[in-house]
Parts: sequence; C-alpha cells; structure tokens
Amino acid sequence: MNIRTTCPYCGVGCGVIAQADTDRGTIKISGDTAHPSNYGRLCSKGSALGQTLGADGRLLHPEINGQRVSMDAALSHVAAGFKRIIAEHGPDAVALYVSGQLLTEDYYVANKLMKGFIGTANIDTNSRLCMSSAVAGHKRAFGEDVVPVCYEDLELADLIVLVGSNTAWCHPVLFQRIAQAKQQRPEMKIVVVDPRRTMTCEIADLHLPVRSGSDVWLFNGLLAYLHEHGHIANDFVASHTEGFEEVLRIARDSAGDLKQVATACGIDTERLLRFYRMFADHPRVITAFSMGVNQSSAGTDKVNSIINCHLLTGRIGQPGAGPFSITGQPNAMGGREVGGLANMLAAHMDIEDASHRELVQTFWRSPRIAERGGLKAVDLFDAIHAGKVKAVWIMATNPVVSLPDADKVKEALRRCELVVVSDCFSGTDTNALAHVLLPAAGWGEKDGTVTNSERRISRQRAFQPLSGEARPDWWLMCEVARRMGFDDGFNYDNAHEIFLEHAALSTFGNDGERAFDIGGLAKITSTEYDDLAPIQWPVPERNHPGTPRLLESGRFYRRNHRARFVPTAPRAPAHKADAEFPWILNTGRIRDQWHTMSRTGRAPQLSSHLPEPYIDMHAQDALLSAVSDGQLARVETQWGALVARVKTSGEMPRGSIFVPIHWNGAFASDARVGALVNPVVDPVSGEPEFKHTPARVMPFPVN
Ligand code: SF4
Repeated sequence: MNIRTTCPYCGVGCGVIAQADTDRGTIKISGDTAHPSNYGRLCSKGSALGQTLGADGRLLHPEINGQRVSMDAALSHVAAGFKRIIAEHGPDAVALYVSGQLLTEDYYVANKLMKGFIGTANIDTNSRLCMSSAVAGHKRAFGEDVVPVCYEDLELADLIVLVGSNTAWCHPVLFQRIAQAKQQRPEMKIVVVDPRRTMTCEIADLHLPVRSGSDVWLFNGLLAYLHEHGHIANDFVASHTEGFEEVLRIARDSAGDLKQVATACGIDTERLLRFYRMFADHPRVITAFSMGVNQSSAGTDKVNSIINCHLLTGRIGQPGAGPFSITGQPNAMGGREVGGLANMLAAHMDIEDASHRELVQTFWRSPRIAERGGLKAVDLFDAIHAGKVKAVWIMATNPVVSLPDADKVKEALRRCELVVVSDCFSGTDTNALAHVLLPAAGWGEKDGTVTNSERRISRQRAFQPLSGEARPDWWLMCEVARRMGFDDGFNYDNAHEIFLEHAALSTFGNDGERAFDIGGLAKITSTEYDDLAPIQWPVPERNHPGTPRLLESGRFYRRNHRARFVPTAPRAPAHKADAEFPWILNTGRIRDQWHTMSRTGRAPQLSSHLPEPYIDMHAQDALLSAVSDGQLARVETQWGALVARVKTSGEMPRGSIFVPIHWNGAFASDARVGALVNPVVDPVSGEPEFKHTPARVMPFPVN
C-alpha cells in the first residue's frame, strides 16, 4: 500500500509517500517524486515522520477534569458550557483558538460555527504569530491576500533576496531547490538579509547583517536609490499603481542618503551599495521573506516596504520576479482561504464589508453573521485573563508555550471558566490547564487538504486507523454544534463534503473580482477528491490546470484594479536595550524540531542534532555576561526567565542573543521562551514582536 500525502510540518508542503511495511509493522516514509513542491526531496523532519506515528503519548480518550469520560459526555459538556456562557454573557464571551496545523476542512467548520452560527468573530489562530503581517501587507498593496509567485520562480530568478529567513533550517526543501538552481546557474545571485549569520548564508553571495528591526530603512533606501538611478518601470507604475509620489517622499525623508541608511541598518556603506546595485541590475528578482520580517511591531510596514520596491521596478507577476511570503506552517494559507483569522471572512471576503457578510450568511443559511472583526491572538488571551472571554476551545496548538508573555497566558487559562483542548497528544503545557480534553485525529489518520506557500492545494490522506477514540477536528466541532442546537449546517459525513462547500463558497457571488476562486473543484466526486493532484489556486473552472503565477496582467484586486504603494515611515522596535537589559533576544526555529515538539520530540534521530535548549550569543557578549560556551546560564527579560546552556556559535552579531522556540515544560522544565517575549504587536496585523525583546544573561546558578 502506497499512500500519497503531504508533510504536516512547514509551509513548503512537501509530498510524502507512506508505505506500509507489513513484515515489520512499520510505515516507511519517502518523498513523492511526482509532487511539484519537492520532487521527492524531504528534510530531516519529513524523513522522520514514521517515528512519530503510533499510540505512544497520544491522547486517546476524552477527559473532563482529568477523569476519563465517554465521548458523548465530553461533547455534551462542551456544548452545554458554551451555550450557558453565551446565554449569560453574549457570543463574544466565547472563543476558538486554532492552528495552521489544522486541515482546511477543519478550519472551514471552525470559522462557520463561530462567525455564522454563534455570531462572534472571536476565532483566531497561531498563524497570527507567523504570517499575519504578510496577509495585511498583501491586502494593503494588492487589495487581496495573494502570493503572486511560485517555487519555480525561485529557480528562474537571477537574484534571490532572502529577508529574515533562515531558509536552510526553516524551509529546508526550498533551500535545497535554491541551492541546486544556483549550482546549475552560477550567475544566479543570492543575498541574505539577517542579523544572524545562519546556515542560509552558506550559499549567499552577500550577507547583510542588518540591525534588528531596521528592514524598513533598508528597503526605503533601496526605493530611493532605484528612483535616483532611473530603475523605474514607468509604464507599469503609471498604468497599474497609485501612491508612488507619497511613498518616494517618505522614503527619501526617512532614508536620507546611503550613509544614513547604512548607519540605521548597522552595516557598512559598501555592502549596502553592493546590494542596491545587485537589485537594480538584475531584472528577475525574488524577495522572499519570512518570520524575521513578519514578527515585528512594524511587520506590515516591512512587508509593504519590500512590495514597494517590486512595484517600482514592475518586478511582479512575471516569471522569476516578485515578493514572496514563505509561510511557516503547513496550512497557514488554507486557514486564510476559509477566513480563519479574527479579522477575515470566509473565501477571502472582508468581515467589515456588509455585502460580503450578506453573501456569506446567505450561502451558509446561517441565523446570524459576526458584524465586526474579533480579538486577535494576544488580545484574545488578554480578554480571557481579564474575564471578558469565559470559554475557549484550543485546537492543535500550545499557546502556553508559543504565545508571547506566556506566563500571563498560563494564568489566563487558570482563570478561565471553561477551557477545552482538542489535541493528538497528551501532556502538553496547555493540555494541563484544560477542563475538557478531546482526542483529535493525527497525521496519517485524517483526510483533507492543505495549501502551501505557493497556493498549492494538496491532499493529506489517511493511511492508518484512528487511535483510540480520536476523531477529526471537524467531526468534534460538528458534534458540538449539533448539541448546541445548530442542526442544519453541520451534517457532514466526510471531509469531501466540507471541501465541496468551501469550494462552492469561493465562487458564490464572485464576479471575478476575488482572486481566491476554486469553483472548478466545487463539484468533484469523492473519487476525484481522493485522487486530487496538487493544484494551485485560482481554479475557476472544471478541469482548469491551476494558476502558478498571479498578477501577470497587472490587474490588482483593489476597486480601481491598481496596486497601492503604501507609505512606510520607519520606526524602531517597541523596546530598546538598556543598561539593565543590554541584549536583544531573538527567537526562532532550529533545523530538526517543529513548534513545541509534541511530535518531533518523540523521534530520537531528531533530538540528536541539538538535544537541549540553548542561548546563542557572541563570545564577547558572553564574556561581558560572565558566562562561557557550554555553561548553564539564566536569561531574563522584563516578562520572564529561563535556564539553558550558552553557545557561542559564531552566528550571532554583537548585542543580540538567540533562543529556540521549541522546548517547553513537557521536555525541559522552565524553558518556555514565549514567557520571555514581550507582548507588543504590530498595530495593523496584530503579529507579536518575537524578534526583539531586551534581555540580560547571567551565570546559573546565580551566585
Ligand atoms: Fe516537511 Fe517542510 Fe521538511 Fe518539506 S521542508 S519535508 S514540508 S518540514
């Protein structure tokens, strides 16, 4: 038995073949050579997927207050709790906090239940923490959350600028594709913009170790340089954009001359000029960006400052050219399609637009529709802490570890009247605070779709039976919805039925003005759904081949069909280092672990690379902190503290330290880096500033 499915980890969305080895009773995992995202490649995490299967550590049965109960009792308890709180305090007193790990079908049902039937937009997702700044930047510039390019464009580009992205570790298969393309075409150039000298720099022609938070200065300076030296696509700017003059004025005012930009970015003028010349001289440029851009209190402006440079040069919608947001999670994009963020509506429609709300409500035949955006992740947990939100259902995520100011999140859940958690695994920091635990189906057990960074919809297929009483998340929500009295609207028998409804909604009332349209898949049979080959949206008609590239015609998704240059005045990160907290804490992923390790932590081979949490810092900063390589140290911020071993890898610039995000209470006590991170968010996107928290480091034990 060979089952084609999709890797459940990062946003590259690699195709995987799961093959049962009946003699050994194991599942062999290999890369799918036919999948256009990876052509058979897998990284260390994907290759070890077979080690994460099985019942070990799984949550197998429902529990209420730590006692095993029947599934019926647990679901009825959740429904009754939600109903009572809504009756007493209104719909905004309940919330869902979901995840980019969910399949699109799960996400669709969650969004429908909250926005259409309960009548609140208090549903947000851990994708808020990873790409919501990119979403907001796309909407401001293009009118809709569209990624114009595809992975093939990375191979066609003459210059790839990787900004705030340790692609080698965080999107390894994409990195392999880029490295191979560069090997085949040595004239291809790569620039890495990152304060750290990461593994990604191994293939870079130029590394710009910019000061944390200085990206807008860098790209405003680039815009001013391109204009000054005549690298402008005049016809494109005149015919397809608006707002250029204002953006140029702000870029010139804020960036000043090259020397000022170099000073603001903390790099030398020569390197800066080299980058600007490279950008100017290569017609096919991809600027790929990731968490180093998005996770900032100026994240949306950073995204728009990048897009502005592509609009100015007309390098968008053409092979090998465009801005490219690389998403972190396997289904960050699918969540956006169904409106799984508190400020979105399904099918890329706007919650603030009355005509869109009416369309969605009519399609759902729902009793109500949320009339305004709901609480974004950080605000949502603040509202729980303040007692305004009294019931929360957390799905497939571990916010007690991953959210900023995570100790406050822990306290919020302690205070909350009703905490429901559906998860595959037991023993996570968040599970420990649940009143009701619901066992969710895991990878290899559930069916549905995910959409990767290049808009490619791929199937996740079941290849083994459900563990214990675990059920797909959509099934758990439908059962609760029916018990709440929402009989119509949640009678799905399988994921295929949900997918058809999702696809039909994307084309409902869509007169071609909305990019997200998969109406061509709205009538596929269950066999066609089972066999669905990876395909990139839009798919507007039956038998449509999919759309690798968007915006080729220069027609954007705003009312006047013009892209908008968005003014981006640079501003510094919210908190500055000072004498008390002299270092800037940066957080991120490592090569062999995923999120809070509930799965990858179970694969022995993955723990051999970096077996414990660490604090990476410059050797001279370590000296100033009286710690040294290999020693235990305590890192403290205004919000929290953790203990880990010091590492002086040589990757860190002076003044900055790095701690990985993965470890937590379940794997190493007191190592939740989220507890150290400041809770400031970008005012447009609501994405937290994970890359910039003032910190101090001291020997441990403290003398
Ligand atoms: Fe999975 Fe991402 Fe690795 Fe591909 S690159 S195998 S999607 S973790």
